[in-house]
Amino acid sequence: MKTIIGLEIHAQLLTETKAFCACKIDVNAKPNTNICPVCTGQPGALPVLNEKVVEFAIMAGLAVNCEIHETSSFDRKNYFYPDLPKGYQITQYFHPIATNGYLNLESGKRVRIRRIHIEEDAGKMIHSSENITESKTSLIDFNRCGVPLIEIVTEPDMNKSEEAKEFMEKLRDILRTLDVCSGNMEEGALRCDANVSVIDDDGRSSSRVEVKNINSFRYVQYAIDYEIERISKVLRDGKDVKHETRGWDFVTRTTVSLRSKEEENDYRYFPEPDLPILKVSKSQIENIKLNLPELPDQKAERYMKAYNLAKDNANIISKDKIISSYFEKLVSLKIDPKDSSNWIVNDLIALFNADSIDFNADKVPIESLKTLIEYTNSGKISRLSAKEVLGEIYKSGRNPEDIIKERNLIQVSDKNSLVPAIKKVIENNQSVVEQYKKGKTSVVGFLVGNVMKETKGKADPKVVGELVKKILDGEIV
Ligand SMILES: [Zn+2]
Repeated sequence: MKTIIGLEIHAQLLTETKAFCACKIDVNAKPNTNICPVCTGQPGALPVLNEKVVEFAIMAGLAVNCEIHETSSFDRKNYFYPDLPKGYQITQYFHPIATNGYLNLESGKRVRIRRIHIEEDAGKMIHSSENITESKTSLIDFNRCGVPLIEIVTEPDMNKSEEAKEFMEKLRDILRTLDVCSGNMEEGALRCDANVSVIDDDGRSSSRVEVKNINSFRYVQYAIDYEIERISKVLRDGKDVKHETRGWDFVTRTTVSLRSKEEENDYRYFPEPDLPILKVSKSQIENIKLNLPELPDQKAERYMKAYNLAKDNANIISKDKIISSYFEKLVSLKIDPKDSSNWIVNDLIALFNADSIDFNADKVPIESLKTLIEYTNSGKISRLSAKEVLGEIYKSGRNPEDIIKERNLIQVSDKNSLVPAIKKVIENNQSVVEQYKKGKTSVVGFLVGNVMKETKGKADPKVVGELVKKILDGEIV
């Protein structure tokens, strides 16, 4: 059995104003306050293309290795829905701005990108009940009408739901690095439709099923796995798989049939008569290319080469520009890069992940982490205490020195205060000392453990180890 998966991804662009009018984009605005005759489809109102939209689309296209076309054009996709006041959506159907790109997955597999085109979003329906068939009233908010989108269409190159999820995450990281899309799936700023079909062991291929409304990275994987299972069962039962559009229901974690799949010619696409052909010059494209920020994969490569970071750490740090700038600042403060990366990946990010929130440099100021790492590396506090202090900084934002002092975490490494405790432990463990004298040096660890207990964990184990040996060897009496 083989599964074939292709994705169609809509990304809302982070422009200040809409694609074809000067209305502000503000997700927090009251319904129907950011609207005008153009985005509500009033007769005679004419669209004017927002230049920023073109720039963002080109940036995205270049970042995913697409060919950018100097000439592209807009078309009308005609359909009726209450949230679409014009009765058509302006899109790029016949001549998209970018084609023939790709992204490589971690396995080395290449997922080709067929096209990227510019289009506009529709409004939002608000139903009085979650269940649309039970809903008595429906309200419409036109604020989202005309918000610019790019649609990224892949070739059906993925064969596992994990690959689709990885592709989505990789694309999100790139769009966020470019600052062209917030990448927030829960808020609908990045939306994914998955096309799934299955070929069984006898070579019979199912129809293609489209799953819509997938609103989280996890659900991309769940929804595709659910479909693979469902389609395979229909094939096993010897029935025909319907060519249809299904919706992902995150409550029941199943897909439900929405409608039989509309064919492309149902939309009666035709060239948009109110907008001129879109032309961009070679030099404009070159200029955008020159100003692209460093992308996650390039950054990870650089971290591995320049700082000798492990691949996993380099990948995790470089995919988020807030995390990577935090890392670079820490390194610029003379903290060892490997140390920095380990603390960020193993300790710091874990705290944010546990609360399911985005990394935020304000919660743990760089200076605080720097101090904490220095205290640990110099043996002033133990690694375990440092973890405790970091948790407290994350919670309260307090100064690490104050927390260390208050909790009395400074390790005792002063010989004069440690020797009596060690002598006491040696006295109480004469049989172990005998073993040491017979050559079993591994018992030192046991004695160190007991000294740690005796000092309530505040002794520096490295110093204790050295002292124990010296006392046993008679170098200190
Ligand atoms: Zn408007």
